[in-house]
Amino acid sequence: MVTITITCSYCSGEQLVRHGLTKNGKQHYLCKDCRRSSRDQPQPNGYTAQAREEILRAYEERSSVRGLTRTFGVSRNTVSAWIKKKK
Ligand SMILES: [Zn+2]
Repeated sequence: MVTITITCSYCSGEQLVRHGLTKNGKQHYLCKDCRRSSRDQPQPNGYTAQAREEILRAYEERSSVRGLTRTFGVSRNTVSAWIKKKK
């Protein structure tokens, strides 16, 4: 099961509702907190918190970024950024 968490790019609120489509067919969301609309998945890296947890856990076990990029298909830069943030 894949749960995509989307957050508002303005206030980081999680109360987003679907708000129609843009001209090129992208989903638009309206933030209930600040009433601004944003395009789909304003999340900077495109991974869910759940996926990130899973990948970081695998990193702790294997300590190999190269292995992770092969297993999960994440970019090395993405993983390094997460690891830095965690410390
Ligand atoms: Zn907002």
